Order: sequence, then structure tokens, then C-alpha cells
Amino acid sequence: MTDTTTDRATAVPPTTDEVRARVRAALDRVGATVPEGTGLAARTPITGDTLFELRADTAADTDAAIGAAAEAFRAWRTTPAPARGELVRTFGELLRAHKADLAVLVTAEAGKIASEALGEVQEMIDICDFAVGLSRQLYGRSIASERPGHRLAETYHPLGVVGVISAFNFPAAVWAWNTAIALVCGDAVVWKPSELTPLISLAASHLLDRAIAATGAPADVHRLVLGDRAAGERVVDDPRVALVSATGSTRMGREVGPRVAARFGRSLLELGGNNAAVVAPSADLRLATAGIVFAAAGTAGQRCTTLRRLIVHEDVADDLVGRLTAAYAGLPIGDPYDDATLVGPLISDRAADTMAAALEQARAEGGEVLVGGTRVPTPGGAYVRPAIVRMPAQTAIVREETFAPVLYVLTYRTFEEAVALHNDVPQGLSSSIFTQDQREAERFLAADGSDCGIANVNIGTSGAEIGGAFGGEKETGGGRESGSDAWRAYMRRATNTINYSDTLTLAQNVSFL
Ligand code: NAD
Repeated sequence: MTDTTTDRATAVPPTTDEVRARVRAALDRVGATVPEGTGLAARTPITGDTLFELRADTAADTDAAIGAAAEAFRAWRTTPAPARGELVRTFGELLRAHKADLAVLVTAEAGKIASEALGEVQEMIDICDFAVGLSRQLYGRSIASERPGHRLAETYHPLGVVGVISAFNFPAAVWAWNTAIALVCGDAVVWKPSELTPLISLAASHLLDRAIAATGAPADVHRLVLGDRAAGERVVDDPRVALVSATGSTRMGREVGPRVAARFGRSLLELGGNNAAVVAPSADLRLATAGIVFAAAGTAGQRCTTLRRLIVHEDVADDLVGRLTAAYAGLPIGDPYDDATLVGPLISDRAADTMAAALEQARAEGGEVLVGGTRVPTPGGAYVRPAIVRMPAQTAIVREETFAPVLYVLTYRTFEEAVALHNDVPQGLSSSIFTQDQREAERFLAADGSDCGIANVNIGTSGAEIGGAFGGEKETGGGRESGSDAWRAYMRRATNTINYSDTLTLAQNVSFL
């Protein structure tokens, strides 16, 4: 196996004490206190060690938090939406003031490199700006009535308590997407973050509490519940939670979806992806290489939108693969706080073991590892070299989401073959095509092209802006969050028929009495 990445994999991670000191300082600046106790360990993937032992919320705490949020909702739902926007505007200002502090915590708990951690907080700020504008644009429709002297209208009303269950890899931004929108829509929020990222959750939640106090919003309009999957299950099963917005693995969604449906609750599922890029013969390979490396190796392959499959035309495959293996060889791996680092740690040793097992299976299925795939020796933490694997076909392992930096390369001859390969996986989150042929680009975006919720041209699969709706099809769960009209999922719709005539006219010409 060729592996030339070793020489750049040298950024030595800080010690656990150094990470703990950074974290303490950031929490102090935010003003958040850590509920030390038992039940939940705040760990850092930078060294793999525990930073603090925290008190986990009990089942009774979770029930009480949901009850308090349900009570707060009663007052919040009639607060004018632009006044609700004022809370989100104040929160956004606090996020701006503490952007660097929150980024320190994102890096400490999720292992993101400095630039991506700052980007995650920027995304929180962006969604706040969006939600503030939205607070003056929550509009319904007026519809032509078939009856004289009648008006038909659609109005939108706050839904209730929104339970937000979030994943480790976007420990704060996904919560902010949900919460900023839910709050302006007049909902209360109960947040059950990933058990792997309690500190950033405490800090972000504390800033929202400060904004709540500053604007006089009901104190319990947002509640944080710290705990593992069992705490999530309590939120899922509680009939006082009108909408469960759950982000995480397809395994989790398979459990959450039916449980919420069984009590006729609403769910919004944002689950795993297995994202692909098609690289056509006309592609600008310099641009494609940059887009592919960021999408496949960025965030150490731990984004739901990470590029996992490359479907490249056989005429340009060798050229592109040569460029990619060269780029991979130069990727600095190590300390995520070091500005020069591009690849930080995986979340756990288990994630590294899963990656190794996937590579073994890929080899057994005829794959050839072209670069990477090995572990970087460090005193602690799971640092891996991102891998590129050439596959003879879209085998079983290629069809799975392995949450690590493994890029499978497949080749194609015709555009139809590329689209068929692209769509032949259970997941449907993000996709892209690199081409300079406009017809081909449009065909990729058409009804019989990519079947994903996100389809891009000449840009990678990851790194969405908040302005569009975000989410995917098939086993990705079908949910849409963030921008565009995703806000409608956080409100209930009422259809109103108003008779302003002096006659009772029945629809469909029905006569009665
Ligand atoms: P995970 O499924 O292990 O956990 C996600 C959250 O769900 C955690 O808070 C966990 O405590 C909770 N949970 C797990 N089982 C539950 C259950 N039965 N009932 C209620 N809550 C439960 O996911 P993870 O490892 O934290 O995150 C990685 C996964 O998330 C990947 O598959 C990734 O693709 C996906 N993800 C998807 C999106 C998206 O928008 N589509 C975004 C980020 C991450």
C-alpha cells in the first residue's frame, strides 16, 4: 500500500490538562457552570480522556423540563412573532461575542479543526439572522373561495414543545437551526444533545438563557436535558412534545420515527448520508480536486454530508486519482487547535476500529487502498490518515455509511450508468456533479437525475449554507431544516373559511334545509 502521508502527520496534540484549561477558560468567559457529579463523562477526542464528570439529568428531571417548557409555551405562543424575534436577535449577538469561546468547546468535544469549529458557530449566528427576519414573515395564504361572499385562508400557529435530539458531529449548529426557527415560530424547545458533547451544549444553552433573561421571555421557553439515549427516549415518548426533531444515525431514526408516529406526534428526521460526486470527462479537475478533498477528508470524514463515493468517468479516473492521492499525502493531521492542521481526531477509538473494519471488508470485496487508512501514532486520541479506495463495483461496504474518512472510487462509461450508480444506495442526503457540460449538469439536477435532498454542481457535497432547506430522502429520513420554508414544520396550519355574506351557501352545491 502506498502511504506517503506520514511526514505531514506530525502536529502533536495537546495534553488533557491543556485541553481542560482551555475549556475552563472558555466556559468562564461564557459564564456557564459545569454541573459536576456523576452519570455523564465529558470527554475530549483530542486525547480520548475525560475532562469533567457531570451530573446527568434523571428521568424525573427530563419530565419536569418538558412540563416547564409546555407551560412556558402557553405564554410564548401569543407573544407577537417580531417580539419573539427580539430574543433570537439578542441570542445571535451573544453568539457573536462568544464565537471564539464556543469554537474552543466544539474543538474540545467534537475534535473539529479551528476553522471548522468557528464555521459551526458562524452557522449558528447566520440562522439567528435568518430567524429574526423570518419573525416578520410568517405568512399564510389567501385562497379563492367557490362561494360568493366567502374568504378562504390558511393561517400558521405555534405548534407546542419541540424536542431537539442532536448528534455529536454538529454539536451546536443543528440545535441552533432548530431552536432559532422554533422560537420565532412561537414554540418552546427541550434539547437533548449528544452525550458526547455536553460542554458545548451547556455553554450554548447558557447564552440562550442569558438572552431569555435580557428580553423577558418565559424562562422555560428553552430547557436543556443532559443524558444518553434513555433521556432521548423520554423526549420521544412524551405526548407533550409536539415535534421531535432528531439528528443522528439511521439506526436512531429507525427507532425514533415509529415511536413518535405511534403517539401521533410529528417527527423531523435528519439521518445518515452516503454522498457521492460524479466527475465527468469535461470537469475542471483542479477545482474538482479541491472540492473533493474538502468534502471527503474535511471534518475527518465525520459530516453527514461527507463525500464517501466518487463516481468518475474512466477517461479521467487515473488523472483525478493521481491528483487526489497527492493532495491526501500533504494533509496535516493532528492537533485540531493548530491552525495548520486540516484533519483532527475521530470521535473515539471505536470509530477508528469501524474504519479499519470497513477497509478490511473493502479489500475482501476487491478494493485496493490507494492511500491512507492507517492510524497516526499519538499518545491518546484516534488520529487516522484519510483513505482512498478503488473499488471494482458498488459492493456492500460502499453502500453503507462508515462515519470516517474513507472515499471509495468507482468508474463509469455513460452518464446513465453514473446516475444509476449514484442513486443505488439506501441513503439520499447530498450529491454533486463536476462538469462543464451544462446539459449534463441540468440532467443531474432533473427528476431522473440525483435522488438526493441536496444536489450541487461544481462544488462538493458538504458545507451547505443556511439559506436553503437542508435534509435528505430515503434512509436519510425526509426531514428539512434550516432555511427556505423549513419553518412550516415547526407550526400547525389551520384552514379558515369566513362567510361575510348574509347567506349560508354550502360547498359543492349541497342543499340542506
Ligand atoms: P447517534 O444516532 O448515535 O446519536 C444521535 C443522538 O440520538 C444522540 O443525542 C443520542 O443520544 C440520541 N439517540 C440515540 N438513540 C436514540 C433513541 N433510540 N431514542 C432517542 N434518542 C436516541 O448519532 P451520532 O453518532 O451522534 O452522529 C452521527 C450520525 O448522525 C451519522 O450517521 C450522521 O450522518 C448523522 N447526522 C445526520 C445529519 C443530517 O442532518 N442528516 C447531521 C448530523 C449527523
